[in-house]
Amino acid sequence: MNFQTVLDDIAEALAPEAGREGEVARYIPALARVDARRFGIALRTREGEEAAAGDGRTPFSIQSISKLFTLTLAMRHLPEAALWERIGREPSGNPFNSLVQLESEHGKPRNPFINAGAIAVADRIVSLYGGDAKGSLAGFMSHLAGEPVDFDREVAASEASTGFRNVALANFMKSFGKLDHDVGAVLDLYFHQCALSMSCLQLARAAGYLCRDGVHPFDVGENVVTERQARRINALMLTCGTYDAAGDFAFRIGLPCKSGVGGGIVAVVPDRLTLAVWSPALDATGNSLLGMKALEMFAARTGLSVF
Ligand code: GLU
Repeated sequence: MNFQTVLDDIAEALAPEAGREGEVARYIPALARVDARRFGIALRTREGEEAAAGDGRTPFSIQSISKLFTLTLAMRHLPEAALWERIGREPSGNPFNSLVQLESEHGKPRNPFINAGAIAVADRIVSLYGGDAKGSLAGFMSHLAGEPVDFDREVAASEASTGFRNVALANFMKSFGKLDHDVGAVLDLYFHQCALSMSCLQLARAAGYLCRDGVHPFDVGENVVTERQARRINALMLTCGTYDAAGDFAFRIGLPCKSGVGGGIVAVVPDRLTLAVWSPALDATGNSLLGMKALEMFAARTGLSVF
């Protein structure tokens, strides 16, 4: 299959629609300035073939896609019990930043991909790296992408100055004894991970271990996670990776996906390839409208699906 042609066709077909519908995330001021007409798409196969179209090489704010990589980092270094005693593995059916469920479930987040769950994962990462948590995360992302990856400091500052709900979630968990570290240190890591700046191509590369049974995307003779862990991360993406639209994603696209309010979505075709799309205008659930459409077109055109 000529993937470059497939991506070119999708980019061309969707270009006239870019920015027409949906809304760029406005609650983080630095994201509100992003041009809603940007559209990028890129993939990398298990064997290392790459293709990109549109703005597929332009960096953007990966936002909640980072939750996939912090979970991976935590799973890589922590015993399973230490991770899952604090975080569940069920879809939440609630918005990604909801406080309600957290109260009724005594500070244990439903899954690692809602904000509360990712904040709990960030707490675990602070346990691993202490004051060097941000640097370690940037190093891990660069190691996966095969080139330097960094934070967008303006986005991180913007998140920190407006992230009142995340502050509330973190304090709430702390009050239940579910965070070990200082709320400020945990949130500093969380706000920075959301502000990682990467292109679709870098994301497709970095997530490559998920289509290679956990093996590092660049054959550096290393497993990022075990085969079993890679399978589990894919399962979590399918059930919980796209806010409370995970059912619709599974129905329409049929691939494990993780989205972010920056308008990016990473998708995995196990044993075949990883794919990333970016279009900043979001639907009401916080998922990229055109990104979702692009993935649907890709699945229909290639016949690739886990089902
Ligand atoms: N930084 C965003 C927040 O915490 C991430 C949200 C997202 O991409 O889902 O609100």
